Amino acid sequence: MGTDLISIEEAWARIATRATPLPVERMPLDEALNRILAEPVMAPMDLPPFDNSAMDGYALRAVETQQAQEARPVTLTIAGEVAAGSWQDTAVAPGTAIKIMTGAALPSGTDTVLQLESGRLRDGVVEIREPLPVGRHVRRRGEDVRRGQLLLEAGVRLNAQRLGLLANSGLADVHVYRPARVSLLATGSELVRAGQPLAPGQIYDSNRIVLRTLIAQTGSICEDLGVVADEPSAIAARIQQELTADLALISGGVSVGAHDYVKRVLRELGMETLFWRINAKPGKPLLCGRRNQTWVFGLPGNPISCVVGFLLFLEPLIRLLHGERNAQPRYATARLTQPVSKKDERRTLLTARLVVRSDGSLEATPTEQQGSAMMQALAQADAFVVVPEDRSSIDAGETVQVLRFHE
Ligand code: AMP
Ligand code: MG
Repeated sequence: MGTDLISIEEAWARIATRATPLPVERMPLDEALNRILAEPVMAPMDLPPFDNSAMDGYALRAVETQQAQEARPVTLTIAGEVAAGSWQDTAVAPGTAIKIMTGAALPSGTDTVLQLESGRLRDGVVEIREPLPVGRHVRRRGEDVRRGQLLLEAGVRLNAQRLGLLANSGLADVHVYRPARVSLLATGSELVRAGQPLAPGQIYDSNRIVLRTLIAQTGSICEDLGVVADEPSAIAARIQQELTADLALISGGVSVGAHDYVKRVLRELGMETLFWRINAKPGKPLLCGRRNQTWVFGLPGNPISCVVGFLLFLEPLIRLLHGERNAQPRYATARLTQPVSKKDERRTLLTARLVVRSDGSLEATPTEQQGSAMMQALAQADAFVVVPEDRSSIDAGETVQVLRFHE
């Protein structure tokens, strides 16, 4: 069996080779968190921009301290004070020092700072008991960053640390890739919104909130088009609305049941199919295609299958669209704590709890219940344990591949 099923790798390769980043936009730093830089950023100025003190203390000339001894201190008269944010233009006269605060610009003529605690102050004179090397406790202009050098490479994700570097360089905005617009539709005549009464045979819709949340966690923008009944013209109308987005997600109705109209509707709307049905359990009935500029995904309605499809393909695709280089599904390795077995020949993904051990390595424990509609198991899971096609069992203690959620 399984000859018409495409492997997860082949399916991902078909996506990855076609995925190109979305257009670039200029964003204020405050709104650029987690975005990817579209262009390298060159340093517009030196950091720090001027020589300044790394300590609270006394700014002086090192040469004047060279004769200092414990028993015979050198004395310098305090001729003023300079705080962070102020600037002293007049050069410091021989025989004098200036009281200086951390971050204050070094007054001209001085080259060294004596730490406040190391100098004894009496009657407006500071005593220095040892020779100081030039540059002690001084942060030199440009020692951190030189104007014109590469500040950040294109392709890096903006985090708190990098935003700090840009802000300190006086940059107010950056060129980043724009986030994807993702439209979302759930199909199924059985689906009811939480809070509404259930008629016999109906269930509450959960895929939309799951997908909306997973979409939000990628930093893309979700347009939720709600639930539509299994009725071809209603589905077609709603999908048409979806096709203006960068990605159109449709949950359910993509299998081979009598009322699974999604595939037909998409074909009639001119979608080019990239693949349909993957060699995965759960997650097999997954449709991926393109229609003009829009990526289209028909995800299986079974809640666990739907999540597997999202993690395998959508999450990494969105990262590629957002400009991340070489984005891949979030695989890791973990030590299996319990033996697992399978009968199906397909690659099998088991809901599992993941624990980080004290040495940083991961331990995976499959949930007691397994199945494409086991909501409790999904709620317990941090990841999926991947059981390869050619394995019918894996022993406790073996290293396995896991597919993780994005934290
Ligand atoms: P389908 O892919 O439409 O054949 O649906 C497969 C299974 O998933 C059925 O048992 C559906 O009732 C269930 N299902 C479909 N959509 C949802 C949804 N949005 N929330 C929860 N379960 C769903
Ligand atoms: Mg259905």
